[in-house]
Amino acid sequence: MERIRLGKTELMVTRIGFGALPIQSVDRDSAVKVARYAYEQGINFFDTARGYTTSEGDLGRALGEHERDVIVATKTRFKDMEQLEKDFNLSLENLKRSYLDLFQFHIVNYENELEAILKKDGPLKFLKKEQGRGRLRHIGITSHRPAMMLKALESDAFETVQIPFNYIETEPLDKLIPLARSRDIGIIAMKPVAGGVFSSSRAAISWILEHAGVVPIPGMCRIEEIDDNLQALNSPPSPAELARLENDKQELGTIFCRRCDYCLPCPNDIEASFIVRSGMMFKRVGWDRMNQNHVKAYTKGLSCDQCGTCESRCPYELPLTEMVVEESKNMLQKAVELGLLGEKELQEKIEAAKNREQ
Ligand code: SF4
Ligand code: SF4
Repeated sequence: MERIRLGKTELMVTRIGFGALPIQSVDRDSAVKVARYAYEQGINFFDTARGYTTSEGDLGRALGEHERDVIVATKTRFKDMEQLEKDFNLSLENLKRSYLDLFQFHIVNYENELEAILKKDGPLKFLKKEQGRGRLRHIGITSHRPAMMLKALESDAFETVQIPFNYIETEPLDKLIPLARSRDIGIIAMKPVAGGVFSSSRAAISWILEHAGVVPIPGMCRIEEIDDNLQALNSPPSPAELARLENDKQELGTIFCRRCDYCLPCPNDIEASFIVRSGMMFKRVGWDRMNQNHVKAYTKGLSCDQCGTCESRCPYELPLTEMVVEESKNMLQKAVELGLLGEKELQEKIEAAKNREQ
């Protein structure tokens, strides 16, 4: 597989990397199998995070013995020295490595977070020390806000930047990608398939590959996804595929769920992210896939007390406090149309939820 230089890190990474967030949603054997399969297909760049629960550990089990052949990037949410040091050591241990290729500050969306990273004698000092000890090769940063990253890049403290970039989210093309290129900073595209919302992941990824130096890291947890995504290497998107991507973009607008699940867990055990993406998902896979378990999840969604916890965690600022109840009602209405629920039962559920509120 073609390899490209990840900016000034000089790391030679495969044209498509492996986003390891989704392997936390499958059992250990499947996670290890999928990561090994990706490696066997030629992928040498794997991106995980301390926050992805089991992901680091499973990558370590799958690839720990290939320290010299694979490039592993991980991330921390912490900016204070003590916690950062803990995370750094845990990452090394989980990944079964003697050094980390790339350690990134995870989801730096606000100015005060960037300031905490850049402050004198702050976390960068610790990471520089680890570089000196040979336990770390490169330092990067990630964010869901391209505009925030302009300042980060201007600081010259980071060798890579990771941002959402796909056919719908093209803001990085305006300033961030040109700036990163001019400073020789490696560019990693998270969410290249926007959480799986495109009618063709292959086309969405091949569109990204048309942008020089940008490395997409689609999240994958199934063998077929790897096979499908790697097809993107074969050819640029055809005019028909581009037209379909454009159609997807028009249909979705900007308020849609990217399946990152940062909004979970809900204190009331409501599957907020599943609920708000259900309409789009069933439209793709077919409404006949809806079943009684889904009806249960939407019924539970009606009991949302609008505490705002999920909304405050969503990096895309989706108005979840409104959406969860609204979408639960919409989906239950759909369940009535599909014969999974009676109209009377639906009204009773809505009444019961209202009474609980009072
Ligand atoms: S609602 Fe927001 S945080 Fe939750 S999965 Fe969707 S995009 Fe991610
Ligand atoms: S707003 Fe509703 S769904 Fe979100 S965390 Fe609070 S109770 Fe759960």
